[in-house]
Amino acid sequence: MLGCFLGGGCCPLVCLLALLLPLVSLSHLNQHGPRSDGARDRPKLLLVSFDGFRWDYIDRVPTPNFHRIIYEGVTVERVESAYITKTFPNHYSLVTGLYAETHGIVANEMYDPALNRSFSMETDSIYESRWWEEAVPLWVTIQKAGGRSGAAMWPGSDVKIHGMFPNKYLPYNASVSFEARVERIIEWFSAPKDAAVDFGVLYWEEPDESGHNLGPQNSLMDVVIAGIDEKLGFLMNELKKAGLYEKVNLIVTSDHGMAQLSPDKIIELDEYVSRDLYTWVDKSPVVGILPKEGKFDEVYSKLADANPNMMVYKKEDIPEHFHYQHNIRIMPILIESKEGWTVVQNRTAPFMLGNHGYDNTLRSMQPVFVARGPAIRQNYVKTSMRSVDLYPLMCHILAIPPLPNNGSLSNVQDLLSLEPTPSTAPSIPPRANGYSYAPVVGSFIGVVMVLGFLMVYIRQVTLKQLPSLKHRSREMSQPLLQEDLHL
Ligand SMILES: [Zn+2]
Repeated sequence: MLGCFLGGGCCPLVCLLALLLPLVSLSHLNQHGPRSDGARDRPKLLLVSFDGFRWDYIDRVPTPNFHRIIYEGVTVERVESAYITKTFPNHYSLVTGLYAETHGIVANEMYDPALNRSFSMETDSIYESRWWEEAVPLWVTIQKAGGRSGAAMWPGSDVKIHGMFPNKYLPYNASVSFEARVERIIEWFSAPKDAAVDFGVLYWEEPDESGHNLGPQNSLMDVVIAGIDEKLGFLMNELKKAGLYEKVNLIVTSDHGMAQLSPDKIIELDEYVSRDLYTWVDKSPVVGILPKEGKFDEVYSKLADANPNMMVYKKEDIPEHFHYQHNIRIMPILIESKEGWTVVQNRTAPFMLGNHGYDNTLRSMQPVFVARGPAIRQNYVKTSMRSVDLYPLMCHILAIPPLPNNGSLSNVQDLLSLEPTPSTAPSIPPRANGYSYAPVVGSFIGVVMVLGFLMVYIRQVTLKQLPSLKHRSREMSQPLLQEDLHL
C-alpha cells in the first residue's frame, strides 16, 4: 500500500514494513509508555527544616555543605514566610501551600471559640485532628495518589489528619538525635521499591532554640550555625552512602528567621489595660487578645495608641497582605510588636534574647532556602519567592496534582532543571478509553523515514553492484531496481 503511495508498482517489502512498523511502535509504547502502577519509579523529594535558620546564617561562618548544595543546585535570597512567622503555622504552610488563615494553624497557641478548645504546644491538644483538618498536608495527598511518605518529627506529621498518618513517621520526641532521624529517613527511602517512600520530611529544632536563648547577634551562634552545617553534611553523606544523593531532590529551608531582642525593648500591657478584661492568646511578639464579653471597645481603646512600639489591629483591619484575618481562631484584637520589641503582661515573664513571629516582610524573619537534585536547576540564584510557592513546586517535582493553594508554580518554575529528566517529567495518567494519535503519527513518520533510507540505499547498491543482483532474489529486489533505474 505504501509502495503504491510512493509511485510505481507495489513492493512486498514496503508493504510488509508498512504493516509491521506500527505494531512495533505500539509494542514499544506498551513496554515503556505510561504505566498504570503509579507507585513505581516516582520522583523522590526530601524536605528538611532547620527551625529558625535565618537566611544570612550561611554567610556568617563557613558553611561548606550549604554552599555545596547551592553550587550543585539553587538558592533563593529572599523567602517570605507566612504570617505570623511562628513555627507551627509556617511548617503547615510549607506542606499545604496555604496561608495560616486558610490552613487553620494560625499560631503556636490558639483558641477556637467554635470548639471552645485551646491548642498549645505544651499539651496533647496538638494531637487532636480537628485543629489540622482545614487543610490537607502533602504527605496525605501523595498517599492518596498512590505514593508513599515518611516524616521525622515534622510538626503535625504524627497527627492523624483526614484519617491518615504518613506511611512512616516518628512520634515527636525532642531527645531523638538528628543523626537518628536521618538514619530512619535513609532507611525509608532505601526500602524495596514497593515500600520505599517518595516524599520525606525532616525537622530539627536548631538553631531556633539557641537563637532564642543567645540572640542571633551573639558570637556563640557561630558555633551553632557551623554545627547545623555539619549536620547537613552528615545527611548528604548518608544519602551518598545509600546511593540516593543523585536520585532524591533535596530541599533545605526553615520556617522563619530570628530577630535580636533587648531588655530595653519591653512593652508591659499591665500598664495600659487590666488583665481582668481580656484573655491572652499566644505569645510575644504577636499576641491575640480575646476581650471578655462586652469589653471589646474598652480593651481596644485602651490599647490602640498606648505604645508606639506596637501595632494594635482590630481583626477586620489586619493588613490584607498578611493574609491573616479570615479564621475564627484569629482573635478579635491582634497586637504586633515592632521588630526587636517584646510584649508581656509584666516583667515577671521569662525573657528571651531572640524571637520571631514579627512581620513576615522583615529581612530578619526570612529563612534560608537551598535545593539540589535531578529536578533542580544547577548553580542558580533566585531573588525572591514566598514560602507558599514551595508547595506547588514540590507537587510538580513529585508529579502529583496540587490541591488548591495560595502558591504559584510560575513564581518558582525557574528553580527547576532546564533539561527535563525522567524524574521531573509529569506522569501521564493511563488512558482507559481514550484514543491517541501519537502512535499512528509516529509510525507513519517511521515508515516514511525507513522507506526513504531503503530507496537511497538500494539505489546506491544497485548502481554499484548491478551484476551481482542477478543472483539475488528477484522478487524482493527487482521491482525496486527497475523503478529505481527509471528515476
Ligand atoms: Zn522559635
